[in-house]
Amino acid sequence: MNNVYNFSAGPAMLPAEVMAQAQSEFLNWRDSGCSVMEVSHRGKAFIEVAATAEQDLRDLLGVPDNYKVLFAHGGGRGQFASVPLNISSESDTSLHLVTGSWSKGAVTEAQKYNHAKVIGETTEKDGLRFVPKPAPDTIDQSAAYLHFCPNETVDGIAYDWLPNSGDVPLVADMSSCILSQPLDVSRHGIIYAGAQKNIGPSGLSVLIVRDDLIGKARKETPSIFNYELMAKHDSMYNTPPTFSWYLAGLVFKWLKGNGGLDAMAQRNKEKAALLYSAIDSSDFYSNPVHPENRSRMNVPFHLADDSLNGLFLEESADAGLLALKGHRSVGGMRASIYNAMPIEGVVALVEFMQQFEKKHG
Ligand SMILES: *Cc1c(COP(=O)(O)O)cnc(C)c1O
Repeated sequence: MNNVYNFSAGPAMLPAEVMAQAQSEFLNWRDSGCSVMEVSHRGKAFIEVAATAEQDLRDLLGVPDNYKVLFAHGGGRGQFASVPLNISSESDTSLHLVTGSWSKGAVTEAQKYNHAKVIGETTEKDGLRFVPKPAPDTIDQSAAYLHFCPNETVDGIAYDWLPNSGDVPLVADMSSCILSQPLDVSRHGIIYAGAQKNIGPSGLSVLIVRDDLIGKARKETPSIFNYELMAKHDSMYNTPPTFSWYLAGLVFKWLKGNGGLDAMAQRNKEKAALLYSAIDSSDFYSNPVHPENRSRMNVPFHLADDSLNGLFLEESADAGLLALKGHRSVGGMRASIYNAMPIEGVVALVEFMQQFEKKHG
Protein backbone atom coordinates (compact mmCIF):
# COMPACT_ATOMS: atom_id res chain seq x y z
CA MET A 1 0.00 0.00 0.00
CA ASN A 2 1.40 3.36 -1.00
CA ASN A 3 0.77 6.76 0.56
CA VAL A 4 -0.58 5.54 3.85
CA TYR A 5 -0.41 7.91 6.82
CA ASN A 6 -0.80 6.28 10.20
CA PHE A 7 -2.20 8.55 12.92
CA SER A 8 -2.11 5.90 15.66
CA ALA A 9 -1.55 7.22 19.19
CA GLY A 10 0.77 4.31 20.02
CA PRO A 11 2.32 2.09 19.02
CA ALA A 12 2.78 4.83 16.46
CA MET A 13 4.39 5.22 13.07
CA LEU A 14 8.19 5.36 12.90
CA PRO A 15 10.32 7.31 10.41
CA ALA A 16 10.29 5.65 6.98
CA GLU A 17 14.09 5.90 6.67
CA VAL A 18 14.54 4.12 10.01
CA MET A 19 12.18 1.31 9.02
CA ALA A 20 13.99 0.90 5.69
CA GLN A 21 17.36 0.65 7.42
CA ALA A 22 16.05 -1.88 9.94
CA GLN A 23 14.64 -3.91 7.07
CA SER A 24 17.88 -3.84 5.07
CA GLU A 25 19.93 -5.23 7.97
CA PHE A 26 17.23 -7.36 9.55
CA LEU A 27 18.61 -10.78 8.56
CA ASN A 28 22.27 -9.95 8.40
CA TRP A 29 23.24 -7.33 10.91
CA ARG A 30 26.73 -5.87 10.47
CA ASP A 31 27.72 -8.90 8.41
CA SER A 32 27.31 -11.16 11.41
CA GLY A 33 24.96 -13.52 9.59
CA CYS A 34 22.30 -12.99 12.25
CA SER A 35 19.76 -10.42 13.26
CA VAL A 36 20.41 -7.86 15.98
CA MET A 37 17.50 -9.64 17.69
CA GLU A 38 19.53 -12.81 17.88
CA VAL A 39 22.73 -11.63 19.52
CA SER A 40 23.68 -11.47 23.18
CA HIS A 41 23.08 -8.22 25.01
CA ARG A 42 26.43 -8.87 26.68
CA GLY A 43 28.33 -9.12 23.40
CA LYS A 44 30.63 -6.34 22.25
CA ALA A 45 28.47 -5.47 19.23
CA PHE A 46 25.26 -4.95 21.16
CA ILE A 47 26.96 -3.11 24.02
CA GLU A 48 28.22 -0.67 21.43
CA VAL A 49 24.67 -0.18 20.07
CA ALA A 50 23.37 0.39 23.59
CA ALA A 51 26.08 2.88 24.54
CA THR A 52 25.73 4.81 21.27
CA ALA A 53 21.96 5.07 21.73
CA GLU A 54 22.47 6.46 25.22
CA GLN A 55 25.06 8.99 24.06
CA ASP A 56 22.87 10.14 21.16
CA LEU A 57 19.91 10.61 23.50
CA ARG A 58 22.15 12.55 25.89
CA ASP A 59 23.32 14.76 23.02
CA LEU A 60 19.79 15.37 21.73
CA LEU A 61 18.38 16.36 25.12
CA GLY A 62 21.54 17.86 26.60
CA VAL A 63 21.31 15.53 29.59
CA PRO A 64 23.61 16.86 32.36
CA ASP A 65 26.32 14.56 33.80
CA ASN A 66 24.55 14.22 37.15
CA TYR A 67 21.69 12.29 35.52
CA LYS A 68 21.61 8.61 34.62
CA VAL A 69 19.88 7.43 31.47
CA LEU A 70 18.20 4.04 31.95
CA PHE A 71 16.58 1.72 29.44
CA ALA A 72 13.87 -0.30 31.17
CA HIS A 73 11.03 -2.73 30.73
CA GLY A 74 7.48 -1.95 31.73
CA GLY A 75 6.37 0.91 29.49
CA GLY A 76 4.90 4.11 30.88
CA ARG A 77 2.68 2.38 33.38
CA GLY A 78 5.65 0.45 34.77
CA GLN A 79 6.93 3.78 36.07
CA PHE A 80 3.59 4.61 37.70
CA ALA A 81 4.65 1.94 40.22
CA SER A 82 8.45 2.18 39.93
CA VAL A 83 8.61 5.87 40.82
CA PRO A 84 6.88 5.51 44.22
CA LEU A 85 8.83 2.32 44.96
CA ASN A 86 12.13 4.04 44.19
CA ILE A 87 11.79 7.49 45.71
CA SER A 88 9.13 7.39 48.43
CA SER A 89 8.33 5.50 51.60
CA GLU A 90 4.88 4.27 52.58
CA SER A 91 4.40 7.25 54.88
CA ASP A 92 5.53 9.84 52.30
CA THR A 93 3.23 12.12 50.36
CA SER A 94 3.40 12.40 46.58
CA LEU A 95 1.82 15.39 44.86
CA HIS A 96 -0.03 15.08 41.55
CA LEU A 97 -1.26 17.39 38.85
CA VAL A 98 -4.21 15.67 37.20
CA THR A 99 -4.76 17.02 33.71
CA GLY A 100 -6.08 14.01 31.86
CA SER A 101 -6.39 10.28 31.88
CA TRP A 102 -2.68 9.39 32.13
CA SER A 103 -1.83 11.62 35.06
CA LYS A 104 -4.98 10.27 36.71
CA GLY A 105 -3.75 6.72 36.15
CA ALA A 106 -0.47 7.64 37.83
CA VAL A 107 -2.35 8.75 40.97
CA THR A 108 -4.35 5.53 41.15
CA GLU A 109 -1.16 3.49 41.05
CA ALA A 110 0.81 5.73 43.45
CA GLN A 111 -2.01 5.43 46.02
CA LYS A 112 -1.01 1.81 46.48
CA TYR A 113 2.44 2.85 47.68
CA ASN A 114 2.25 6.26 49.34
CA HIS A 115 -0.11 9.11 50.21
CA ALA A 116 -0.90 10.44 46.77
CA LYS A 117 -2.46 13.88 46.86
CA VAL A 118 -4.02 15.74 43.92
CA ILE A 119 -2.92 19.39 43.99
CA GLY A 120 -4.35 20.62 40.70
CA GLU A 121 -6.84 19.59 38.05
CA THR A 122 -8.05 20.61 34.63
CA THR A 123 -10.79 23.24 34.73
CA GLU A 124 -12.76 25.20 32.13
CA LYS A 125 -12.02 28.56 30.57
CA ASP A 126 -14.28 30.06 27.89
CA GLY A 127 -16.11 26.72 27.83
CA LEU A 128 -12.91 24.86 26.92
CA ARG A 129 -10.64 22.53 28.91
CA PHE A 130 -7.89 24.47 30.60
CA VAL A 131 -4.96 23.71 32.93
CA PRO A 132 -4.42 26.32 35.68
CA LYS A 133 -0.97 26.65 37.24
CA PRO A 134 -0.92 25.34 40.82
CA ALA A 135 -0.25 28.07 43.39
CA PRO A 136 3.21 27.59 44.93
CA ASP A 137 1.71 27.66 48.47
CA THR A 138 -0.25 24.46 47.68
CA ILE A 139 3.03 22.60 47.36
CA ASP A 140 3.90 20.75 50.55
CA GLN A 141 7.69 21.05 50.75
CA SER A 142 7.99 17.78 52.67
CA ALA A 143 6.49 15.76 49.76
CA ALA A 144 8.67 13.11 48.15
CA TYR A 145 7.95 14.32 44.60
CA LEU A 146 5.48 16.09 42.33
CA HIS A 147 4.23 14.03 39.38
CA PHE A 148 2.81 15.56 36.20
CA CYS A 149 2.23 14.70 32.56
CA PRO A 150 2.98 17.62 30.22
CA ASN A 151 1.25 15.99 27.24
CA GLU A 152 -1.95 14.05 27.81
CA THR A 153 -2.14 11.58 24.93
CA VAL A 154 -5.82 10.71 25.31
CA ASP A 155 -7.18 14.20 26.00
CA GLY A 156 -4.93 16.22 23.71
CA ILE A 157 -4.05 18.54 26.58
CA ALA A 158 -0.56 20.00 27.04
CA TYR A 159 1.22 22.82 28.84
CA ASP A 160 4.69 24.23 28.40
CA TRP A 161 5.29 25.58 31.93
CA LEU A 162 6.78 23.57 34.79
CA PRO A 163 5.03 23.40 38.16
CA ASN A 164 6.82 25.71 40.59
CA SER A 165 7.61 23.04 43.18
CA GLY A 166 10.44 24.59 45.18
CA ASP A 167 12.76 21.80 46.32
CA VAL A 168 10.29 18.99 45.68
CA PRO A 169 11.62 16.92 42.76
CA LEU A 170 9.54 17.06 39.57
CA VAL A 171 8.69 13.71 38.00
CA ALA A 172 7.41 13.98 34.43
CA ASP A 173 5.62 11.36 32.35
CA MET A 174 6.77 12.39 28.88
CA SER A 175 5.65 9.24 27.08
CA SER A 176 3.99 11.15 24.25
CA CYS A 177 6.09 14.32 23.98
CA ILE A 178 9.72 13.44 24.71
CA LEU A 179 12.01 14.50 21.83
CA SER A 180 9.28 16.62 20.25
CA GLN A 181 11.05 19.84 21.28
CA PRO A 182 14.10 20.91 23.32
CA LEU A 183 13.85 20.26 27.04
CA ASP A 184 15.59 21.60 30.15
CA VAL A 185 16.38 18.29 31.85
CA SER A 186 18.11 20.02 34.78
CA ARG A 187 14.80 21.28 36.16
CA HIS A 188 13.48 17.73 36.61
CA GLY A 189 14.15 14.98 39.12
CA ILE A 190 12.94 12.14 36.88
CA ILE A 191 11.74 12.07 33.29
CA TYR A 192 10.29 8.87 31.91
CA ALA A 193 8.68 7.77 28.68
CA GLY A 194 7.23 4.60 27.22
CA ALA A 195 8.93 4.24 23.85
CA GLN A 196 6.06 3.48 21.51
CA LYS A 197 4.94 7.05 20.83
CA ASN A 198 7.97 9.10 19.92
CA ILE A 199 11.00 6.85 20.45
CA GLY A 200 10.64 3.38 18.96
CA PRO A 201 8.75 0.11 19.33
CA SER A 202 6.87 -0.82 22.49
CA GLY A 203 8.53 -2.91 25.18
CA LEU A 204 10.98 -0.25 26.23
CA SER A 205 10.82 2.75 28.49
CA VAL A 206 13.47 5.40 28.77
CA LEU A 207 14.30 7.06 32.09
CA ILE A 208 16.40 10.07 32.98
CA VAL A 209 17.05 10.12 36.72
CA ARG A 210 18.98 12.68 38.78
CA ASP A 211 21.76 11.05 40.79
CA ASP A 212 20.45 12.04 44.22
CA LEU A 213 17.20 10.14 43.54
CA ILE A 214 19.08 6.89 42.97
CA GLY A 215 19.74 4.58 45.92
CA LYS A 216 16.53 5.31 47.85
CA ALA A 217 14.49 2.29 46.74
CA ARG A 218 12.39 0.36 49.23
CA LYS A 219 13.59 -3.07 50.25
CA GLU A 220 10.66 -4.75 48.46
CA THR A 221 11.18 -2.96 45.13
CA PRO A 222 11.58 -5.61 42.41
CA SER A 223 15.24 -5.72 41.41
CA ILE A 224 14.49 -5.21 37.72
CA PHE A 225 12.79 -1.87 38.58
CA ASN A 226 15.37 -0.70 41.10
CA TYR A 227 17.07 2.39 39.66
CA GLU A 228 20.29 1.77 41.61
CA LEU A 229 20.67 -1.79 40.33
CA MET A 230 19.69 -0.74 36.82
CA ALA A 231 22.28 2.05 36.83
CA LYS A 232 24.98 -0.16 38.29
CA HIS A 233 24.41 -2.73 35.54
CA ASP A 234 24.10 -0.25 32.66
CA SER A 235 20.40 -1.18 32.29
CA MET A 236 21.37 -4.83 31.80
CA TYR A 237 20.59 -6.28 35.20
CA ASN A 238 18.34 -8.63 33.27
CA THR A 239 17.95 -9.02 29.52
CA PRO A 240 16.78 -5.68 28.16
CA PRO A 241 14.35 -5.34 25.21
CA THR A 242 17.27 -5.41 22.77
CA PHE A 243 15.44 -4.93 19.49
CA SER A 244 13.49 -1.94 20.83
CA TRP A 245 16.72 -0.44 22.17
CA TYR A 246 18.47 -0.92 18.81
CA LEU A 247 15.57 0.66 16.93
CA ALA A 248 15.38 3.56 19.39
CA GLY A 249 19.07 4.11 18.59
CA LEU A 250 18.26 4.36 14.89
CA VAL A 251 15.53 6.92 15.68
CA PHE A 252 18.00 8.99 17.73
CA LYS A 253 20.42 9.00 14.75
CA TRP A 254 17.56 10.01 12.48
CA LEU A 255 16.70 12.91 14.79
CA LYS A 256 20.32 14.05 14.84
CA GLY A 257 20.52 13.82 11.07
CA ASN A 258 17.35 15.86 10.67
CA GLY A 259 18.31 18.93 12.62
CA GLY A 260 17.78 17.70 16.18
CA LEU A 261 15.07 18.89 18.51
CA ASP A 262 14.98 22.52 17.35
CA ALA A 263 14.05 21.32 13.88
CA MET A 264 11.51 18.85 15.29
CA ALA A 265 9.89 21.59 17.38
CA GLN A 266 9.55 23.81 14.30
CA ARG A 267 8.06 21.01 12.20
CA ASN A 268 5.70 19.92 14.97
CA LYS A 269 4.51 23.48 15.46
CA GLU A 270 3.72 23.82 11.76
CA LYS A 271 1.92 20.48 11.61
CA ALA A 272 -0.24 21.25 14.63
CA ALA A 273 -1.03 24.79 13.46
CA LEU A 274 -2.22 23.45 10.12
CA LEU A 275 -4.56 20.93 11.70
CA TYR A 276 -5.96 23.19 14.42
CA SER A 277 -6.60 26.00 11.96
CA ALA A 278 -8.54 23.58 9.74
CA ILE A 279 -10.62 22.56 12.77
CA ASP A 280 -11.17 26.14 13.96
CA SER A 281 -12.12 27.52 10.58
CA SER A 282 -14.99 25.04 10.24
CA ASP A 283 -18.30 24.67 12.08
CA PHE A 284 -18.29 21.01 11.23
CA TYR A 285 -15.21 20.11 13.34
CA SER A 286 -14.40 21.16 16.88
CA ASN A 287 -11.67 20.69 19.49
CA PRO A 288 -12.58 20.88 23.20
CA VAL A 289 -9.25 22.25 24.50
CA HIS A 290 -8.34 25.87 25.24
CA PRO A 291 -5.80 27.21 22.71
CA GLU A 292 -3.21 27.64 25.50
CA ASN A 293 -3.37 23.94 26.31
CA ARG A 294 -3.59 22.26 22.94
CA SER A 295 -1.26 19.36 22.36
CA ARG A 296 1.02 19.44 19.34
CA MET A 297 1.26 15.66 19.40
CA ASN A 298 -2.31 14.41 19.85
CA VAL A 299 -5.15 16.36 18.28
CA PRO A 300 -8.64 15.20 19.25
CA PHE A 301 -11.58 16.55 17.29
CA HIS A 302 -15.30 15.96 17.08
CA LEU A 303 -17.69 16.02 14.15
CA ALA A 304 -20.76 18.21 14.64
CA ASP A 305 -22.87 15.14 13.94
CA ASP A 306 -21.66 12.06 15.86
CA SER A 307 -23.73 9.78 13.66
CA LEU A 308 -21.18 10.46 10.86
CA ASN A 309 -18.25 9.08 12.90
CA GLY A 310 -18.43 5.62 11.37
CA LEU A 311 -18.54 6.99 7.85
CA PHE A 312 -15.64 9.38 8.58
CA LEU A 313 -13.49 6.49 9.77
CA GLU A 314 -14.42 4.33 6.81
CA GLU A 315 -13.76 6.98 4.17
CA SER A 316 -10.56 8.21 5.82
CA ALA A 317 -9.17 4.66 5.94
CA ASP A 318 -10.05 4.26 2.25
CA ALA A 319 -8.07 7.43 1.60
CA GLY A 320 -5.03 5.90 3.37
CA LEU A 321 -5.47 7.91 6.57
CA LEU A 322 -5.34 5.32 9.32
CA ALA A 323 -6.19 5.03 13.01
CA LEU A 324 -8.12 8.28 13.46
CA LYS A 325 -10.62 6.88 15.94
CA GLY A 326 -10.58 8.80 19.22
CA HIS A 327 -9.87 7.06 22.49
CA ARG A 328 -12.95 5.16 23.72
CA SER A 329 -13.17 7.38 26.81
CA VAL A 330 -13.32 10.58 24.72
CA GLY A 331 -15.06 9.52 21.48
CA GLY A 332 -14.79 11.43 18.21
CA MET A 333 -11.48 11.44 16.37
CA ARG A 334 -7.84 11.84 17.30
CA ALA A 335 -4.89 12.46 15.02
CA SER A 336 -1.53 11.70 16.61
CA ILE A 337 1.19 13.59 14.80
CA TYR A 338 4.46 12.65 16.46
CA ASN A 339 7.93 13.40 15.05
CA ALA A 340 7.68 10.66 12.43
CA MET A 341 4.51 12.09 10.82
CA PRO A 342 5.58 14.12 7.80
CA ILE A 343 3.83 17.41 7.07
CA GLU A 344 2.45 15.78 3.90
CA GLY A 345 0.40 13.47 6.13
CA VAL A 346 -1.23 16.42 7.90
CA VAL A 347 -1.88 18.16 4.57
CA ALA A 348 -3.57 14.99 3.30
CA LEU A 349 -5.70 14.78 6.45
CA VAL A 350 -6.79 18.41 6.22
CA GLU A 351 -7.73 17.99 2.55
CA PHE A 352 -9.72 14.89 3.38
CA MET A 353 -11.52 16.67 6.23
CA GLN A 354 -12.51 19.53 3.94
CA GLN A 355 -13.81 17.18 1.27
CA PHE A 356 -15.73 15.15 3.84
CA GLU A 357 -17.35 18.30 5.19
CA LYS A 358 -18.37 19.39 1.67
CA LYS A 359 -19.90 16.03 0.98
CA HIS A 360 -21.66 15.39 4.28
CA GLY A 361 -21.70 18.69 6.21
C1 LIG B 1 0.87 5.56 26.45
C2 LIG B 1 1.11 6.31 27.70
C3 LIG B 1 1.31 5.65 28.93
C4 LIG B 1 1.23 4.15 29.09
O1 LIG B 1 2.23 3.51 28.43
P1 LIG B 1 2.35 1.90 28.47
O2 LIG B 1 3.65 1.70 27.79
O3 LIG B 1 1.17 1.35 27.74
O4 LIG B 1 2.37 1.48 29.89
C5 LIG B 1 1.56 6.42 30.05
N1 LIG B 1 1.59 7.76 29.99
C6 LIG B 1 1.39 8.43 28.82
C7 LIG B 1 1.46 9.91 28.81
C8 LIG B 1 1.14 7.72 27.65
O5 LIG B 1 0.94 8.38 26.50
